[in-house]
Amino acid sequence: MTQGAIIDGNDVVLIVVDVQNDFCPGGALAVPRGDEIVPIVNRLAARFRNVVLTQDWHPPGHFSFASTHPERNPFETIVAPYGPQVLWPDHCVQGTPGAAFHAGLDIGHAALALRKGMVPTIDSYSAFYENDRRTPTGLSGFLRERGISRVFLAGLAFDFCVRYSAEDARREGFAVFVVEDACRSIDVNGSVTQTRDSLTSLGIACISALSTA
Ligand SMILES: [Zn+2]
Repeated sequence: MTQGAIIDGNDVVLIVVDVQNDFCPGGALAVPRGDEIVPIVNRLAARFRNVVLTQDWHPPGHFSFASTHPERNPFETIVAPYGPQVLWPDHCVQGTPGAAFHAGLDIGHAALALRKGMVPTIDSYSAFYENDRRTPTGLSGFLRERGISRVFLAGLAFDFCVRYSAEDARREGFAVFVVEDACRSIDVNGSVTQTRDSLTSLGIACISALSTA
């Protein structure tokens, strides 16, 4: 069986994570070279019948914003009730241009645009769970009811929202593949190395978009 046959299947989904203006160069929380993935993701998505987009979508004053916490700076880590939380610059505030998808994203056949990070007191890196790892977004049920068994992931950033989405997809029992050249990283405090180690230990394959052609 070729990789192409896998991608054409009805039981396969591509999840495109957070390809939004604020995560691209010029945005509030820019992932270096984040915009480079847009054409790669577009070509990749064209080969999937099932595509889901995620969209970071925070209320103003969200818990993950450094500005919400007195005397804290962006990229510091604090202890939240649900565990460590990196503090970010204000980003992807609901309804702002920064929260919009990158204008070059061209995936008209996506079945769902899933918004996340909407609970004021909990961050949400993963497409499947809030950062408490217990509050579901409903995506798992959506995919199961459609007969999906294999999940491919691309988007921003490799070492945060893609990583957590991949780990949760695996935990939910899906086979998981991260299309690494269709991702870009932030790399805070060794997060890229930690991500690779974690994905490897969970049996999650990192592949290239070319290998799926
Ligand atoms: Zn966010």
